Amino acid sequence: MRKYVIMGVQGSGKGTQAALLCDDLDLVHISVGAVFRWHVKNHTKLGAQVRRLVAAGELVGDDLVEDVVRERLQQHDWNFGFVIDGFPRNRPQAEFFLESYDIDGVILLDLPDEEVRRRVLARRLCSLCGMDYNLIAHRPEIEGRCDVCGGELVTRADDTPEALARRLRDYHGKTDPVIDLFRRKEYVLVVDARDDQATVQQAIRERLGLPAYRAGSPARLNA
Ligand code: AMP
Repeated sequence: MRKYVIMGVQGSGKGTQAALLCDDLDLVHISVGAVFRWHVKNHTKLGAQVRRLVAAGELVGDDLVEDVVRERLQQHDWNFGFVIDGFPRNRPQAEFFLESYDIDGVILLDLPDEEVRRRVLARRLCSLCGMDYNLIAHRPEIEGRCDVCGGELVTRADDTPEALARRLRDYHGKTDPVIDLFRRKEYVLVVDARDDQATVQQAIRERLGLPAYRAGSPARLNA
């Protein structure tokens, strides 16, 4: 059983790196932001409560976030473990998490703010399947269309310069202290997120003592 937290500023590649790790190693990828976006898209009661905050890039209240995390982890579909992405984002969330779950490592993707701005403003998302694109590093074959399902590519509502500035402020003000808290418990491994996807993935695996990354050939831990 492997339980990891992946942290890093917006655009540092948390979602992509978590997905690569999970697909290959049979871990469950838990993205709190994706859960909220699903609720917004499907017009649920929770979606109505968080819609404005998510669109503005503001943090959702801790109670709602903790409920989502608790419910998700209670599904116990993570026989081989999980990678949780986008949580915890402040100290109370970190304390809640550490009280309830033991974790094996915190992967911190390190990216300078300048590079964050460049990447985030080029980010696109498939409106149908949620696949991530980037107009700098991962362009779709046909402009504006998802390579996987043909869905329309859209900009996330919170990938605007204003929302990004707010998220960077929140990140440094509220999430940096979480990293310090984890560091005191010696959980944190810092990986340079400026490299390409495969290099970053390989660095994560080396640091966690996991099988090497080979694109397209799963190195299943549990086979
Ligand atoms: P993300 O996809 O991780 O960037 O999250 C998108 C949005 O979901 C954030 O801007 C917040 O509005 C909300 N959100 C996701 N995770 C959290 C969290 N741990 N605490 C508060 N709000 C969150």
